[in-house]
Parts: sequence; C-alpha cells; structure tokens
Amino acid sequence: MSTTWHVLGAGSLGTLWAARLARARLPVRLILRDHARLASYQTGKGLTLVEHGVAHTYPVVGETSDSPGPIHRLLVACKAYDAQEAVAQLEHRLAPHAELILLQNGLGSQDAVAAQLPQARCIFASSTEGAFRESDWRVVFAGHGYTWLGDASHPTPPLWLDDLQAAGIPHAWSTDILTRLWRKLALNCAINPLTVLYQCRNGELQAHQCEVATLCAELAELLECCGQPAAAQDLQSEVERVIQATAANYSSMYQDVANARRTEISYLLGYACQAAARHQLTLPHLQQLQVRLVQQLSARGLPSD
Ligand code: NAP
Repeated sequence: MSTTWHVLGAGSLGTLWAARLARARLPVRLILRDHARLASYQTGKGLTLVEHGVAHTYPVVGETSDSPGPIHRLLVACKAYDAQEAVAQLEHRLAPHAELILLQNGLGSQDAVAAQLPQARCIFASSTEGAFRESDWRVVFAGHGYTWLGDASHPTPPLWLDDLQAAGIPHAWSTDILTRLWRKLALNCAINPLTVLYQCRNGELQAHQCEVATLCAELAELLECCGQPAAAQDLQSEVERVIQATAANYSSMYQDVANARRTEISYLLGYACQAAARHQLTLPHLQQLQVRLVQQLSARGLPSD
C-alpha cells in the first residue's frame, strides 16, 4: 500500500496535483484551511480538474490540520507567504522522518520551512506547469509543463517519484535545484515587476529593452555573487526569449495585482534585494525597481511584503 499523499492547500497547484494522484488511484487527502472550508468542500463531490476543456471530478477526502492521523508525506501547495504558518499548524501530526515537497515559487519560504522542521526531509520543487482556479474546488490545467524536484542536502531521489510517473506528472530529479530556483527567480525579477509598473502584457516589455537589459546585468552580478554562476549564464537572452514566447500573456504578478491579490514579492524581488544587501552589493536599478513596485502595491492598497 502506497504512503498517503497529504496535500496542503486546495488552490490551483494543490488541486492539479491531488486530482492527478487520485486519478491514478493513489491515496490522497486534502488538508483545508479550517472547518468552514471543509464544510464548503464537503457540499460538493470532490475536486474538479478541467483539462483540454473536459472536466473530471475526483472524490478526494478532505480534512483539516486537527484531523487525526500521522502525516508521512506532505505536498505543500500554498503561497510562499502562507507556507510557514500552514506547516506549523500540522507539525504535531508529522511523522519523525516525514517528507515535505515544497511547491512555492521564489526563494526564502523553503529554507524557512526546512529550518522549522530539522527532522523532516524537505524537497524543493520548481514547476513550469500552469493552473488557475475557475471557482472553489475547480481548477483549469492551463499550461502543460515540467516539475523539477531536488534536495540540496541529500542527492538521492526518493522512491515515490514512481507515484508521479503513475499519475502522469511530468517531472525530473534535479541535483541542482537551487540553481533552477535562482534562475527562475531571476527571470521573474526581470519581467514580472515591470509588467505591473507598465501595466502591460509580457510582450510589451520589448519596448523597454534597455531597462530589461540593465536589470539582467545586475541580476547576473547578484547570481555570481551568491555562488550561482550557472544561473547567471545567458540570462538576458533567456529573458528576451521568454518575453517573446509569452508575449500575449499577463505575468502572474500582473494577474495578482489586477485581481487585488497579495503578491509573492518578498520571495522574488524582495529576496533578491535582501541577498544583494547581505553581500553589500549595490544594484541601483534592481533596488529602484523594488521601491517603485512597493509604491505601486501600497497605492493600490495591497500588502507590499
Ligand atoms: P492558490 O491557488 O492561491 O492556492 C493556495 C491555497 O493554499 C489556497 O487554496 C489556500 O486556501 C491554501 N492555504 C493557505 N493557507 C492555508 C492553510 N493554513 N491551511 C490550508 N490551506 C491553506 O496558489 P497557487 O497558484 O496554487 O500557488 C501555490 C504556489 O505555487 C505559489 O508559490 C505559486 O507561485 C506556485 N506556482 C503556481 C503555479 C500556478 O500555475 N498556479 C505555477 C507554478 C508555481 P483558501 O482556498 O482557503 O484560500
């Protein structure tokens, strides 16, 4: 009998993962925020995943942090700013050598969770899959992609990668997961804040090529200084390629702001600026970008952390 997958957070990625694991008949349980959310979930038939326009509903069992039973494997699928507190609520249920898979974007939250749970194995993930919530308990699989998983302190892959294979979740074990996360963070810092400031789609940043190039140069300097030279390689050309390939898209940060949702700025641009300060590195354009973004968020009444 496979170990149960406890999925913390029934948002876009949590539902995408839980539905595919359930589809492969693997044991899955969904941990919801509180009893009110659980009661709301239980009025329906389960989680619905819409893929290629076709909806399927999977009767995944829901619970809350105070439900009984130990947790051996936990997929943390909440936002970076919620991860530490959400995991803390479950600490009393974690088995001594529990494994956690951290799906958060950016950097900072993974280390915070790992420091909170020295006994557990924390596996970091970086995903190019895309999903969005159409309504509560109903998620659209919007962009097929890939998920890299890795453990910076322990290079052996876990046996449960077989479960992902069975569930049809495209993935690979990565021995340089931190490099992947830094690279993704740098791409995000070069694109997403500007789309918020200029209120534009990714493609419209082609009109701000010089600004993008200056940011890329500063980000590359930061990556080198943080011991991530591989993440710095050809950064500008990849940023330009992403801007072109996703020209019609609105960035995730743009969408958060447009929908008056809190952004993950502290784990993206904020993390980059903090790392620069730690290394006493002066990166004027990156720092100015953060000031402008914080001003923009505050002006809209959104949290700037
Ligand atoms: P999301 O749709 O906002 O889902 C987050 C979920 O976490 C929500 O359902 C929320 O509950 C739940 N949650 C928060 N605190 C909780 C707690 N204490 N207990 C239980 N549940 C809790 O976010 P997402 O888009 O899936 O993103 C998750 C992470 O993946 C982010 O770091 C994001 O950047 C990253 N990511 C997302 C995508 C994507 O396509 N969506 C792609 C790549 C990476 P409520 O429903 O009650 O608010």
